[in-house]
Amino acid sequence: MKKRPPIARMRNIGVIAHIDAGKTTVTERILYYTGRSHKMGEVHDGEAIMDWMPDEQERGITITSAVTTCLWKDCEVHIIDTPGHVDFTMEVERSLRVLDGAIGVFCAVGGVQPQSETVWHQADKYRVPKIAFINKMDRVGADFYGAMGQMVEKLRTRPLALQIPMGEAEEFSGIIDLVSMTSTTWQDETLGATYDTTPIPDHLLQRAEKGRERLIEDLAELDDEVMEAYLADKPLSEQDLLSAVRRVTIDLKAVPVLCGAALRNKGIQPLLDAIVAFLPSPLDVGAVSGVHPETGEKVECRPVAKDPLAALIFKVSMVEGRKLCFARIYSGTMHTGEDVYNPSRNAREKLARILSVHANRRDRLSEAGAGDIVGIAGLKLAATGDTLCSAQRPVLLERIETYEPVISVALEPKTHADQERIGLVLEKLTAEDPTFRVRVDEETGQTIISGMGELHLEVLVSRMQREFQTGVNVGKPQVVYRETIDREVEGEAVFDREVAGQHHFAQVRLRLAPLGRGQGNSFTAVTPPEGMPESLIPFIRQGVMEALESGPVLGYPVLDVKVALIGGTFRDSLGTELAFRVAAAMACKEGLTGGAPFLLAPIMEVEVLVPETFMGEVIGDLNARGGKIEGIRPQKGIQVIEAIVPLSRMFGYSTALRSATQGRGTFSMQFARYDRS
Ligand code: GDP
Ligand code: MG
Repeated sequence: MKKRPPIARMRNIGVIAHIDAGKTTVTERILYYTGRSHKMGEVHDGEAIMDWMPDEQERGITITSAVTTCLWKDCEVHIIDTPGHVDFTMEVERSLRVLDGAIGVFCAVGGVQPQSETVWHQADKYRVPKIAFINKMDRVGADFYGAMGQMVEKLRTRPLALQIPMGEAEEFSGIIDLVSMTSTTWQDETLGATYDTTPIPDHLLQRAEKGRERLIEDLAELDDEVMEAYLADKPLSEQDLLSAVRRVTIDLKAVPVLCGAALRNKGIQPLLDAIVAFLPSPLDVGAVSGVHPETGEKVECRPVAKDPLAALIFKVSMVEGRKLCFARIYSGTMHTGEDVYNPSRNAREKLARILSVHANRRDRLSEAGAGDIVGIAGLKLAATGDTLCSAQRPVLLERIETYEPVISVALEPKTHADQERIGLVLEKLTAEDPTFRVRVDEETGQTIISGMGELHLEVLVSRMQREFQTGVNVGKPQVVYRETIDREVEGEAVFDREVAGQHHFAQVRLRLAPLGRGQGNSFTAVTPPEGMPESLIPFIRQGVMEALESGPVLGYPVLDVKVALIGGTFRDSLGTELAFRVAAAMACKEGLTGGAPFLLAPIMEVEVLVPETFMGEVIGDLNARGGKIEGIRPQKGIQVIEAIVPLSRMFGYSTALRSATQGRGTFSMQFARYDRS
């Protein structure tokens, strides 16, 4: 069994990118050059190593965050393949939680596209240091400085070019490193595994010197040590510059920018060097805090192997019918065969196997310590978001936020055998993916599944067929609505009943008021019933929250409503928890019904990229779909159209766009808000 490297030599990183920017191709090259894979997989062959689920191979996209381990220059790098498709945003967030650093891969032609923008901002939220790789420098229209400009404009970040490309598009031949002031070209015969580092060619020397000056000036602005040297006119060594870049990257003051063409096998080794040189180790990230499961007191989890164990399960996968949990260890050490405590389930669980996980292979480990990311087999109860810890020091690491699904379809099993299997299969799929929901429609008896988008559900249905041999017919997709009210209203209810031989009584008066879009629900106890103990307020809140789960129009969850407790009656021995909870729910329902309730529909931000000639048609079609055009800008010979469109009108849009533009238009969309459609 394998020993783990020291924590300072670990890197936990993710690759974030818009779909098709080249994330899979970059990851493939990383695995190849670090010696993990002996055959280079190509996305278009359907053989990419990270994309090992059949569905992903068929679609040429990456869906699950498979984690993989590789070695570069004494460092062990764990790469979590974060999905770029917006339907899988939850997966991205889950992985960002456990990363210490990220590489943003951008297309040199497309620049900063919407999904990478979304994920980048999410990474900012988790304070994840990043480096940028501008890929596809070989493509016609490649524009290194253009992409950097977009990083400033759209990501509000400070890019630091550490390299400049030698030529762009067909001319692209290698890179110039502005720190060492050398140029690198790659040998085709070895698929880029070998490369030559030479002095900078004369005709590029002036540009390189300018680039280096710019780099030093930028660093001087951001870093005191460089500033001092700069003011004193002291020369800066290569190591001085590298250390300064590392400091400003980890402090989130700037983002080092590199470039290359993964498909042409150019630029990957310097990217690996940059991961090791600039992205933080778990030690740099420091302690994370959790809470004591009972007292709620803060518990610091330091990245120290001798401390008590604290690990977060960030993903659960069904691999060949077996459950595999992926965990990030924040402190302590876990040993194979040991019992650990899972405070979310209030249970002890055995670590039957600890695994170092590669894209499609797993090595057994005898132990793993702080900073590591490992797979665990044999956990029965653990689910995504759970903490594993030592029973001596129980701790709950912060739970992961969940997203609400926006689209649903009805399923019908094809045969009797399918009927029998469907429940169990859906249960397995929901265990893996908290954004996937299942319910049975009470009126029709149909099984309804909901998720983050058409593609998300298509993938799930196809997995049911492939992995679980369960055939289903699928209905038309429906958007998932929300409900809200249009005016302020009061609701009042009395609960006065015998339940199990005891008399319960409560009267509750509530005021409900509409809030602005996106504000969510709130509850405040303004004037509780006279004489009522404070301890009953949580039960009133609970009743209100239950009522808000299902609105009066079509039973969808209620959103953007402010509820205030403004009165009621409390009778000493009769005023029970049950009575107040039920009365509050009834009062809230009455209020909702009287508050002019209406539906809110999911509204999407859509970005369409089309050649000029098809613009009129595409805009006309978006208008016909009830879309609002927010902006149109030219970008290197194509037009970028930004629009806001209700999701219900976007079904089948990819097919419509393809036929309207002879296959030359592309689009992406993401959830913007719930609103009147
Ligand atoms: P992902 O969706 O971000 O994982 O992107 P992929 O790695 O699947 O790449 C999308 C497409 O871009 C594939 O057809 C790749 O072959 C192509 N591609 C990736 N890197 C490059 C590159 O450096 N240059 C060119 N011209 N194409 C590339
Ligand atoms: Mg991919």
